[in-house]
Amino acid sequence: MTALSQDPTVTSSDWTIETLHAAFERQRQEHLRAGPPDLALRRNRLDRLGAALAGNADALVRAISADYGNRPLAGALAAEVLLQLEDIRSTKKSLATWMKPRHPQPRYLRAAGLATGLKAWVEPTPLGVVGVIAPWNFPVALAVQPAIAAIAAGNRVMIKMSDLTPRTAEALRSAIAAHFDPAEVTVVTGDLDIATAFSSLPFDHIFFTGSPAVAKHIQRAAADHLTPVTLELGGKSPTVLAPDADVAKWAKRIVKARLANSGQLCLSPDYVFVPRARVNAFLTAAEDACRKALPTVADNTDFCTIINDNHFRRISALIEDARKRGATVREVIPAGERLPDAATRRIPFTLLTDTTPDMEIMQEEIFGPVLPVVPYDTVDEVIDEINSRPVPLGSYWFGPDSADFRRFVARTRSGGVTRNDFALHASLAGLPFGGVGNSGTGYYHGQYGFETFSHLRAVAVSPNAFSPVSLLSPPFNPVLEKGLRSVVGLWSKRLGKKATPHHRPKGTT
Ligand code: NAD
Repeated sequence: MTALSQDPTVTSSDWTIETLHAAFERQRQEHLRAGPPDLALRRNRLDRLGAALAGNADALVRAISADYGNRPLAGALAAEVLLQLEDIRSTKKSLATWMKPRHPQPRYLRAAGLATGLKAWVEPTPLGVVGVIAPWNFPVALAVQPAIAAIAAGNRVMIKMSDLTPRTAEALRSAIAAHFDPAEVTVVTGDLDIATAFSSLPFDHIFFTGSPAVAKHIQRAAADHLTPVTLELGGKSPTVLAPDADVAKWAKRIVKARLANSGQLCLSPDYVFVPRARVNAFLTAAEDACRKALPTVADNTDFCTIINDNHFRRISALIEDARKRGATVREVIPAGERLPDAATRRIPFTLLTDTTPDMEIMQEEIFGPVLPVVPYDTVDEVIDEINSRPVPLGSYWFGPDSADFRRFVARTRSGGVTRNDFALHASLAGLPFGGVGNSGTGYYHGQYGFETFSHLRAVAVSPNAFSPVSLLSPPFNPVLEKGLRSVVGLWSKRLGKKATPHHRPKGTT
């Protein structure tokens, strides 16, 4: 191990293209030299990652809050630190089982029925050097969560932090540098030039969390090295208040969900469908819930500010565009402060009605404390509307279990679904978390994360007496060919009977 103080990538937070390449090369060489880490070393790395987080929790959440302007510390402690510590605990517990070779059932070992005595198994092996690219909105959580899975799978990890959270990036860099040789795990900080160079490194896997627009650049850069990518993206997550739902109860929960991180959350309910006759009741209940949650806005440390001026202007422009095109805008400002306030980047919770699909706010992921309320008459109308849009990361249904709910799940697409809550499907380690289509590619969390960062390597041992694959090589024996023909004939007869017209594609006889 190189002493930490001798390594330029640790003592300096000023990353250059040269130090970036050197850090990558060192991780790769060390991975090749040392081979796959054993269970004890993986667990030890996870412990060190936990210690880096727990021991620096206060510094990390204060850095996040400073990057935001104000972000409530309790929420940040829960989401950025504690959830990761719990993830480390449960990963360590399951790791021995995940790492074990897996043996296929004997019936799959007969090599097309032609030979017995084969041995075969699957070995989950590390991929090598993994690049993790994190967004600004949960800068520690979304850097560390994939790193936990990548370390568990035996990889070396380089993490690139967002340029929009420089204080957090530096705090995490120094916390990790104090516990890891940079050949094991290192945190890269810097601007977009460094980000671009980072995504061009010949990683064995890139794990990107961010917007669909930037994901296209990442995928293009990765294509040059045929580097596989996991893309954890966002989108407009639709929310449905069911026809038979308790309006007051669920309006409160939907508003609380939208207020989390002031809507700057990939799984935030982006807009809500409400039965037409219940829109007024929903608006009243939503305003009431917001007033109770945030009686003041301007001086309230429970209020999460918008990350930067660009995003403040972007969200304000979305509201203005909707207002100009005929939307009704209801700002919830219980204490009557002058808001929105550009100087402190505080936008009050805002309900929109009378929106139309062509408004920018109904097309772009809002990522702010704004909630369009869309009236509907039938559930089919809701399903059609959702299916006419890019596939979202999450979708929500509030109301009892019903045939409508089942149809909603069966007939729409999204990364995951939660009923009667927000983001629950993404919080349970036993469920895969990931998007589909425009909201992403691939999964992680729990064993799904371990497998994302593993190569499932097939190992087979031939029986000595006979090689089944020798059937593919010359010389070909006419007797064998005859035998094979009769086997194909038997298959043809059997399948011919099963392939009744009902199952045949139209137009074939
Ligand atoms: P972003 O796409 O702007 O940036 C993500 C990361 O990519 C940052 O680290 C950034 O520095 C880097 N980056 C930007 N341009 C780059 C380039 N050309 N080459 C290489 N790297 C580049 O996303 P953001 O604004 O940081 O985050 C918000 C988005 O992330 C939203 O769309 C949100 O829904 C999504 N998100 C998704 C999840 C999820 O788990 N699926 C979680 C949080 C956020």
